[in-house]
Amino acid sequence: LAQLFRPLDLLGMVYRTIRQGAIDMGAMFDLIDTPSEITDALGAAPLAVTRGAVRFEGVQFGYDPDRAILKGIDLNIPAGQTVAVVGPSGAGKSTLARLLYRFYDVTGGRITIDGQDIAQVTQTSLRGAIGIVPQDTVLFNDTIGYNIAYGREGATDAEVAAAARGAAIASFIQSLSDGFDTRVGERGLKLSGGEKQRVAIARTLVKNPPILILDEATSALDSRTESEILDTLEAIERGRTTIVIAHRLSTVVHADRIVVLEAGRVAEQGTHAELLAANGVYAEMWARQQAEREEALAVGE
Ligand code: ADP
Ligand code: MG
Repeated sequence: LAQLFRPLDLLGMVYRTIRQGAIDMGAMFDLIDTPSEITDALGAAPLAVTRGAVRFEGVQFGYDPDRAILKGIDLNIPAGQTVAVVGPSGAGKSTLARLLYRFYDVTGGRITIDGQDIAQVTQTSLRGAIGIVPQDTVLFNDTIGYNIAYGREGATDAEVAAAARGAAIASFIQSLSDGFDTRVGERGLKLSGGEKQRVAIARTLVKNPPILILDEATSALDSRTESEILDTLEAIERGRTTIVIAHRLSTVVHADRIVVLEAGRVAEQGTHAELLAANGVYAEMWARQQAEREEALAVGE
């Protein structure tokens, strides 16, 4: 039965996306990309999140059978902690996030949440427990209130307003003539990159997930907007198990632990200070990015 429902779910999602004229084609392709062979295991039970501890145990994965992307990843993300995953583009960082959300199944090893193999729980319960703030947020051609409420079916106006405050976008919304009823998106008010990310944060706050993934959530923003949003993100990370994926290392200094991923393997891990002291790949990446920053400051970015 689940096998029957999956493609229909997907069609529904694509249909809604088209109907609402979603503006981000990339995101739509992400949805279409979802492989239909992911189904609930026979007798799958809902995920019971007690504390929100996430573990990758010897995880192997490739999109194509002849090209391994993740080559045995062991990652322990204790409940409530923030773990950053950094590394060069193409290292497999987003793939980790896609596997945790179960867009794909691992080909070796397993991923557990509070000891439960995510392949053995219902997808609805799994995805209900995880919030993702992506690099680019899709806004529907609808009201800004709708765009925030989208985080969870049945969200009340009061919850939407509270989420907007938590994402530090409430006063901006109040300044609009139609407030939460203001239409946004391609056929409405155009929001800046920073405002769109705040809508995404508010959407996530409405969902209130115990597990949070920030996948390059601020990388499309200029550095001033980024630093404004980082405070808000750090606030919503509190009390949740968080995976922060980032290219810019300045955004992960605060993490409880930083994992350096290189070509599908964990190259190093530790705190920012430990990794600097180790004088390895991370220290090298840090030095390079500091130099780039100083250069940018010198030319008056
Ligand atoms: P990162 O987020 O670290 O930049 P990704 O996890 O997105 O890297 O990608 C890791 C590797 O997997 C890259 O070589 C990428 O080209 C490949 N890849 C990503 N998505 C797909 C896909 N849907 N099909 C095939 N290969 C993919
Ligand atoms: Mg990525």
